[in-house]
Amino acid sequence: MKISYNVLIISILLICIWFSAIVIKKNVKYKKIFMMLMVSAIAFYLTHITENVMLYNVGRFSDNIIFIERAIHFVLLGQVYSFFAYVMVNIVDHVEYYNMPKRMLLFWPVIILDILILTSQFTHLIIYVQGGILYQGPLFFLTIMLRDAYGLFALVRGYMKRELLPPIFGRSIRMIFGFSVVYLLVYLFTGDDSYSYSIILFELLVLQLALLVVEFYKENITGLFNVEAFNEYIEKHLKREKCKSIYLIKLKNYDYLDDSYSSENLQLVVKNISEILKKSTMISAIFYLGNGRYAMIVGKKENFDEKAFFDNLRENISTPFDFGGAMIQLSLFVAVMNMTNGKINANNFNKYFSACDEMRYRSEDIIEVIQGDSFGIHQLQRYRDVEEAIERALVEKEFKMFYQPIVSTETGKVISAEALIRLNDRILGFISPEEFIPISETNGKILEISEFVIDSVFKFVSDHDIKAYGMKFIEMNLSVVQCMDKNLAEKLEYYLQKYNIDPTQINLEITETATNFDENSLKEQIMNIKKLGFTFSLDDYGTGYSNLVRVLEYPVDIIKLDKSLVWSAFTDNDSFITIKNLISMFHDVRRKLVAEGVESQEQMDSLTEMGCDYLQGYFYSKAVEEMEFVTFVQRFNAGVKLRGIDGGLQQ
Ligand code: C2E
Ligand code: CA
Ligand code: CA
Repeated sequence: MKISYNVLIISILLICIWFSAIVIKKNVKYKKIFMMLMVSAIAFYLTHITENVMLYNVGRFSDNIIFIERAIHFVLLGQVYSFFAYVMVNIVDHVEYYNMPKRMLLFWPVIILDILILTSQFTHLIIYVQGGILYQGPLFFLTIMLRDAYGLFALVRGYMKRELLPPIFGRSIRMIFGFSVVYLLVYLFTGDDSYSYSIILFELLVLQLALLVVEFYKENITGLFNVEAFNEYIEKHLKREKCKSIYLIKLKNYDYLDDSYSSENLQLVVKNISEILKKSTMISAIFYLGNGRYAMIVGKKENFDEKAFFDNLRENISTPFDFGGAMIQLSLFVAVMNMTNGKINANNFNKYFSACDEMRYRSEDIIEVIQGDSFGIHQLQRYRDVEEAIERALVEKEFKMFYQPIVSTETGKVISAEALIRLNDRILGFISPEEFIPISETNGKILEISEFVIDSVFKFVSDHDIKAYGMKFIEMNLSVVQCMDKNLAEKLEYYLQKYNIDPTQINLEITETATNFDENSLKEQIMNIKKLGFTFSLDDYGTGYSNLVRVLEYPVDIIKLDKSLVWSAFTDNDSFITIKNLISMFHDVRRKLVAEGVESQEQMDSLTEMGCDYLQGYFYSKAVEEMEFVTFVQRFNAGVKLRGIDGGLQQ
């Protein structure tokens, strides 16, 4: 036995340990076990040396000493292989979410074997020493069998799941497997097993290198795979058609949280969601792409229960997250891209993916799921086209404000008007705000658009003496993103001064959706703006999940019943009664009510009778451009009859 050879082997192992200690990130779950594996391997190798030393000094050691030395040797052998298997499952599975007994399952065989080994000087089952000679007991084969079983299990498990990890990982496993086969052949042909000790070390070295690469592809905050890993994966596997589906999972309020809170807090959330994702599925291919965006890839061979995944996810995400004192309900947007129906392929994947990434959110669900492959390429094109139209309109100043009258049921006169934005693009023609506002909210243009809206509406109030027309105020819509803008109060103040107008002539409409964000800061925002003299309406009441009590927590002056709610009153009796009661209830708490979407005389009469304060709808007029509106109001409030048999719609 060459000393230099042994020194070499041990040096290699020590270098591995040192390297792992530095390179594998602290929070990596298998770091500790991997280090323990390395240390066990060195100890195991040392027992190989002590064995040789003892062999050269036969007769100088008592039976018990020899037994203890050998027992340690075999215990370490089992330890090395069971740790090897454990590291492997830790790399490819989310073992940390199994309960303790399940996690320990892997170790039971080796623990039982250890007990057998350690007692075997008495039981003679595995090994025993008599008269300085080592004998193998009837169960000795267990040590070898278990070693091979652990090794094989680790390699097969790793190989099965290799596709979820960087390619080098799979190759390393094959290499380790190759080493083992070479060893087996050498052993079969020569009967020399001295190679068996160093082979373990070489295999560990390969595993170590593979781990380092895997670590290189990990994202720092979450420990998930990073965006490079995702891109590589996509490039490689899509061509080979190995994916079943790809999930894009986005934290909806990320931008808002990013603006409003410290980065430590944000990192906590990002990490928290990554844990929730891991906990919700045993799939290993989860990526963090940055900016609150995650991706998950499910392979064709994987058994993935989508329903269970969403159930788990919902359960885990539904408790509000403590954001340094503020309790915030996180919500997720999930785009499911099915890769098996032939719609999405390697060539158009990126288009679909970025479309899903930029898609507007449509619901207020805690988890909003859309089928990413359900829309065609032309819909994506439309999205892009509208984005361009928004850009054009901002540059060429093509946005216009229109005004739609709101009539008081008490006086029968126009008391207010809602300012509604209009875009008539020279290429796409008329584009509804319902289409471009949400798009602008996702791509960030909304703040520029809002600036235009504020400027125009304030200018309108400054240009016209609306009091002289018999009006009290103008309603201006605030988008959700705007509500979350920390500088909103400052901006409003700036425009107040610029146009020198009375803030009580402006009423701001916020939607219920906004109340899904951090409640406290929204309330604070509203209070600050109210201090400037503005009043508020709550828009679209009845569309979302309207919680009466919660609505009352917001200091709004007016509630706007959404047109869908209003219309339902005229199609079924229960809704009619509900609305009637809503109106009286809101009156009890000093809120005024606007009914939207009033289109007929019948609706007007009933709503008036129900006690609704203000009415808005095509029955009076659509939103029209500024001067047309002014003419309309002056004539309407002067009592000039505008409504004929056809409703006299002002289009
Ligand atoms: P909204 O705030 O609920 O506005 C009311 C919408 O209902 C307007 O659609 C209006 O034209 C329409 N409407 C009014 N009366 C009737 C009626 O009797 N029947 C029917 N069928 N519809 C009626 P519009 O102008 O297309 O606006 C759609 C949405 O776009 C608005 O919903 C609002 O959320 C958003 N929006 C419009 N202008 C602005 C703006 O300046 N800023 C922001 N942030 N959002 C805006
Ligand atoms: Ca509105
Ligand atoms: Ca509305």
